[in-house]
Amino acid sequence: MDRNKLYRSIPKVDLLLENSEIKDLVLKYGRENVLYVIRKQIEALRTFLDICDSEEAAKDRMEGLVSAIAEGARSMSRPSMKPVINATGTILHTNLGRAPMSEEHADRLRQLLVSYSNLEYDLKEGKRGERYSHFENLLCRITGAQAAMAVNNNAAAVMLILRSLAYGGEVIVSRGELVEIGGKFRIPSVIEQSGCTLVEVGTTNKTHLSDYENAISENTKAFLKVHTSNYSILGFAESVDIEELKPISQKTGIPIIEDLGSGTLIDLSKYGLSYEPTVQRSIQNGADVVCFSGDKLLGGPQAGIIVGKKKYIDLIKKNQLTRALRIGKFSAAALEMVLLEYLDENSAIKNIPAMKMMCESCENTALRAEKLKNMLQGIQANVSLEVCESQLGGGSLPLERIKSVAVAVRPFNMSASELERQMRYLEVPIISRIFNDTVYLDIRTIDSSYFEIIAKELKRLIV
Ligand SMILES: *Cc1c(COP(=O)(O)O)cnc(C)c1O
Repeated sequence: MDRNKLYRSIPKVDLLLENSEIKDLVLKYGRENVLYVIRKQIEALRTFLDICDSEEAAKDRMEGLVSAIAEGARSMSRPSMKPVINATGTILHTNLGRAPMSEEHADRLRQLLVSYSNLEYDLKEGKRGERYSHFENLLCRITGAQAAMAVNNNAAAVMLILRSLAYGGEVIVSRGELVEIGGKFRIPSVIEQSGCTLVEVGTTNKTHLSDYENAISENTKAFLKVHTSNYSILGFAESVDIEELKPISQKTGIPIIEDLGSGTLIDLSKYGLSYEPTVQRSIQNGADVVCFSGDKLLGGPQAGIIVGKKKYIDLIKKNQLTRALRIGKFSAAALEMVLLEYLDENSAIKNIPAMKMMCESCENTALRAEKLKNMLQGIQANVSLEVCESQLGGGSLPLERIKSVAVAVRPFNMSASELERQMRYLEVPIISRIFNDTVYLDIRTIDSSYFEIIAKELKRLIV
């Protein structure tokens, strides 16, 4: 085939601008934007011609240029972030935005977002207030701490606490707790980045109280306990509890900081999950400062929550870094709403979506799965209900598997991977898992309100 001839027949930009369809695009999206898309599409067309071996395919692609430009212009003005249906069964899927918000909270949030709010305004005094004021008392009531605040995320909370309380000094950590959380967040590096010196004590599997005692020097500024939320040491293992550490802390005045990671306010073992240390218990046992994530087991917005003794929280609030790491107004508002639910455990289980998913009984999941299966009748696929396992995700309780039920779809005339791909391309993408050449839709993470749209799209896609 004559490549040069093909290159020469690519229409010039000026000519394209005369095209009536493109003129419409210019009216709608503006000349500069359309020119940008035209250049991009011509570039893509050239790249295609460079590698294309079939004259027919090349001509097809050339003929599709105008519609490619139209699609390019449309997609440029559409937001790239959009709602997706999480059919993976991973409840706190970090890549899918961790914890979803309830409709009711979102409605209230909307009201706050379209107007001004008293974010940092004290309505009683008529002067500047604190953004923590909306949730500090709630956190204190729920956890039993004296004071509380929140920053952008838990990673920021850990750095800020160390920087505020231990800058220039030594921080003692058990070797069994020097973990990597993921995303390049490693406790040893975080301590260094916070301007502190790490003093490791004990061994990977065993650390004794005497290890902590022997490591204390005049430069010791803090004991740091890290909840190893994403891995566990089984067998010949021993660590030192906050309760045991407390007497030394009191004698020396060295504060105990605890990074709880997930941090839960409810004893999850009551709902059939493994026991995960609660924030209340850390405070009760004598931790001076505790931090945890807002969007892990709490089921709220991205945030790093810090609770503890007032004298330490005051120091942290005064640190210059606090401004750089502060919690956004959307998150602050959402955090207050979620914490309000925690005043009553039953409300939290019912009204916080992530909590509801974690605690839904397998029988109920099965009933809902049956409903979706019935809605798929007549589809060109084998549809069955399969027992599967949901995960918590977000590095919380990594070994925990929650029994769940999936609607398993095996199309007659297309592969599971092709269906999985097409589901990702939908207007409201459906993110699923493939197992045994079958697409699994884990019902635990799918609210029933999505069933209709899922059934409709699957009927359209599977032919
Ligand atoms: C997840 C986690 C963090 C980081 O929390 P983000 O809110 O994701 O920033 C820090 N420490 C521990 C122990 C964690 O599990």
